[in-house]
Amino acid sequence: MCGSSAVRPIGVIGVGESTTPNFPRHIFEYLGIPRKRFYELAEPTWKLGIKFLWGSRGRFDYTFNLQLDSRWPELPKPTGFYCDDDFDNASLPGALMRHEMAFPRQASGAPDIHPWHAFHIENKKFVAILELVAREHGVEFTDGEVTGTERGPKGIAAIHLKDGQRLEADFFIDASGFRSELLGKALEQPFISFKQSLFCDRAVIGGWDRTDEPIQPYTTAETMNSGWAWQIDHEKLINRGYV
Ligand SMILES: Cc1cc2nc3c(=O)[nH]c(=O)nc-3n(C[C@H](O)[C@H](O)[C@H](O)COP(=O)(O)OP(=O)(O)OC[C@H]3O[C@@H](n4cnc5c(N)ncnc54)[C@H](O)[C@@H]3O)c2cc1C
Repeated sequence: MCGSSAVRPIGVIGVGESTTPNFPRHIFEYLGIPRKRFYELAEPTWKLGIKFLWGSRGRFDYTFNLQLDSRWPELPKPTGFYCDDDFDNASLPGALMRHEMAFPRQASGAPDIHPWHAFHIENKKFVAILELVAREHGVEFTDGEVTGTERGPKGIAAIHLKDGQRLEADFFIDASGFRSELLGKALEQPFISFKQSLFCDRAVIGGWDRTDEPIQPYTTAETMNSGWAWQIDHEKLINRGYV
């Protein structure tokens, strides 16, 4: 495995990442990382959905649970039937978002953590915790920059690192992102770009240290005169991005 976060010369994308409920499900249920440990190390914040400052309503709270296509037992028609101009508090997560809250309380006072939440996370911390857990499970890391490859009869036979090491393996996974070191450069698999269908392929990102702003339990997506901007809240940092 090449390129740990500690010394990686090419760097890890870190723009304040926003996730969907598949993310906590994968971390806790599939990988089996204990929630408490993950919270301590990765310091995620809760995300219930996306607050769109967008369109003719001005604001729309998109949540991960069913909103329009659900039906309250007391009402004869699906929720969407009643949502015209007024689209507030259409579901419990929507109401929580509207009131800047993440969870209802259980009778014991503890948070009632529902399955339709996701996280905001800082990618560098996330990569670090994945590395830590992998090492604990016996995965060995070799830090280095891939500078060359050797083709064998069944694909890649070995990779070469900048420090001169030659590493052989039965199986390689290319996780080098757009650089596509193995798939693109070595195996010459064509890259199919969707560039023609993109309105924009650049982003400007920035942020500031949190002072007394409350942590917002949602991503904000705000329409601008040209393009749109996002805001992602972390415990100690607020990220803004513009595309
Ligand atoms: C502005 C912006 C905002 C985004 N927001 C979100 C978001 O909110 N939520 C979300 O899910 N996704 C988001 N993404 C997308 C997300 O960051 C990418 O999909 C993700 O990083 C891709 O992961 P990857 O591992 O394939 O590639 P990368 O993250 O690009 O990782 C590739 C790694 O390979 C290493 N590498 C490359 N070449 C070599 C080499 N020769 N030798 C050794 N190592 C090498 C690099 O150091 C790098 O660490 C965003 C992206 C951008 C640009």
